[in-house]
Amino acid sequence: MSFDCDLPVLTSIDLDIVVVAILVLLFNTPSVSRFILLTILFSFSKSSLNRATENGANTYCHWFQPMASSGVRHGQTGQVQNMMMQFNRKTNDIEFDFKGKDLIRGETDGSSFPNGGLRGTHCAGGYLAIDTSSPIFLRGDTIFVPSALVSYYGAALDEKTPVLRSNSALNKQGARLLKHLGLDTEAEGGLVANIGLEQEMFLIPREEFYRRPDLQFTGRTIIGKNAPRGQEMCDHYMAPLSSATPALAAMQEMQEECWKLGIPLKTRHREVAPNQFEFAPLFGSNTTQIDQNVMVMQIIEEVAPRHGLVALLQEKPFNDVNGSGKHVNWSIATADGTQFMKPDVINKATGNDYAFPIIMAAIVAAIDDHGDLMRAAISSPGNDFRLGACEAPPAIVSTYLGEDMTFYLEQFKDGKGSGEYVPGVKTLDLGVSEIMPFEVPSEDRNRTSPFPYGGARFEFRAVGSSQNVSLVNTVLNTITAEKFGEFADKIDAGADPVDVAKEALNKHWRVIFNGDNYDEEMQQMLTDRGVWRIDSGVEAIHTLSSEKNINLFEKTNVMSKEECEAREIVLHDHYSGTVEMEALTLIDMINQHIIPAVKASGVGPLEALEASVPQLQDAVATIHAAENSYEAAKIARELRLETMIDIREVCDAAEGVVPANMWTLATYKELMFLDSHVGPGLEEIYE
Ligand code: ADP
Ligand code: MG
Repeated sequence: MSFDCDLPVLTSIDLDIVVVAILVLLFNTPSVSRFILLTILFSFSKSSLNRATENGANTYCHWFQPMASSGVRHGQTGQVQNMMMQFNRKTNDIEFDFKGKDLIRGETDGSSFPNGGLRGTHCAGGYLAIDTSSPIFLRGDTIFVPSALVSYYGAALDEKTPVLRSNSALNKQGARLLKHLGLDTEAEGGLVANIGLEQEMFLIPREEFYRRPDLQFTGRTIIGKNAPRGQEMCDHYMAPLSSATPALAAMQEMQEECWKLGIPLKTRHREVAPNQFEFAPLFGSNTTQIDQNVMVMQIIEEVAPRHGLVALLQEKPFNDVNGSGKHVNWSIATADGTQFMKPDVINKATGNDYAFPIIMAAIVAAIDDHGDLMRAAISSPGNDFRLGACEAPPAIVSTYLGEDMTFYLEQFKDGKGSGEYVPGVKTLDLGVSEIMPFEVPSEDRNRTSPFPYGGARFEFRAVGSSQNVSLVNTVLNTITAEKFGEFADKIDAGADPVDVAKEALNKHWRVIFNGDNYDEEMQQMLTDRGVWRIDSGVEAIHTLSSEKNINLFEKTNVMSKEECEAREIVLHDHYSGTVEMEALTLIDMINQHIIPAVKASGVGPLEALEASVPQLQDAVATIHAAENSYEAAKIARELRLETMIDIREVCDAAEGVVPANMWTLATYKELMFLDSHVGPGLEEIYE
């Protein structure tokens, strides 16, 4: 891979810096000077545009993320690509055409996007406005302008707008609290939330993929007998990215395509399940990272087929091996880089030994009060099969702080200790002369916690791989903003910041849990303590419209009541839509593949298979007959996690007895083992 930043990267950065700087000024400037700024904007963006066109751009689009853009169409973005041309009606010549106003705003019909009742098809105008926080970029012949999508009345119809509003809330309330703690955040460019998104995925042989209608339509295997080999030997995790399979070359090309857009996928490795892989980028500000992640998912899906592969981004493509997540590493900092979750850094910047524990107390309180929303934000249909199993943290939202920091905070809240928190280190001496003793953190890591603290950041580990993580970040920022605001209110009214933090820690201490989250006894203990636990994703989504949460989003100006309710409807519809596709696919697979194979071979549970088809048809009809989206999603969940799992057993039993040459669907053996099976379609790329 070449790391020379060639022109496309420079072009996108150039376009970005100039336009963003001027737009930011523009929105903060009185109208008199606006005219001057607009003029500068157009002349600068013209020179950037020239460079873009010199590098092949002849088209542009406003690039947005419609509501619930997750799941089946992974991280789905919306766009209408317009050529920058027009006809001169007088001369009949083709002329270049792209005006400044085309950059700042767009309008789209877009009536077919999910909107949860926020607009009708007869008043379907959607408005696109440039998001100045995320770089414009050039890909191929097209300039992509990251944008927000709102209705005629300004309601958010997308994933981005609430994130931007939550960033404002965090910045505003954070500035108030930090001023009391000794730091003028405005002087450091304001507060930003930084994130790094680890992206897991499967790569499977393309030809076998086409022999699986369920993978094609739903992204996961709805049926499929386990292969004799799984994760028994732990021989996949971080195993060599051997060139004996096409996976390495595919990943290298994905990194290179990303690099051309300025997306640094720094880390690549194999993950726990066979055929499972991961990328991790360098972290950055949340809107940019989210935009880049949806582009990463698109590039992964585009590049894999060039190598005879198909990428699966769904959370649980295969039964009984690990599913895929997208860890959201999240931290808060000033734009100038003072990181709040690094104790030494924030204490030094504020000149206050207690700045760090006070910030931690606010975050602990936020998790305890709003674990329901954190759970709601990760309720993608695919995640239903991950949460709770021993591969992703359970649906109980606690936080791991580590023994060292927990001990410090305990002393702090009880008024016993004094002085600042200094993370401990210990020395490992292996007792051999060839390896020098070395220092490690005194804390181990915790892989079972949904939201562990990891030194400089929290890591939301329960997030699903196919998710657009906008709602996750909206929630994290909003709940933190609320607590920062509440702390600031109390301090404004005369309270001592340390006392405010102590009170919060005492009240919310139960949410800190450093033990094993997979242990059922511990899960019961946390449940009894009253830590948020919502096993059903459908119920978790329903909390978006609870009184507590509507109050939270309204008072922080992140979402109105209507916007919360619309989002719930869209997510529930998305859930039932996913299940309906799965059920209809299963019916086809039983009718067109499994029953014929059982009949032809004369073995297998024919009667039970025949009975399962009307059962599935009836269940789909019941979803359609439900009185609203919430009820439909509840029925869909039951169908998926009960009826369809029972039917799967019948199908898998048939697969176990039908002779291999009469089984017409690709099996787990053919789908999951690139490293020991070069399937049809892969030979060609070695030629
Ligand atoms: P790990 O093994 O800890 O999961 P990875 O390298 O796989 O490490 O991923 C860690 C991710 O966290 C990377 O995307 C990294 O850039 C990001 N990250 C590191 N520090 C921070 C921080 N302060 N804020 C947000 N994200 C961070
Ligand atoms: Mg990782």
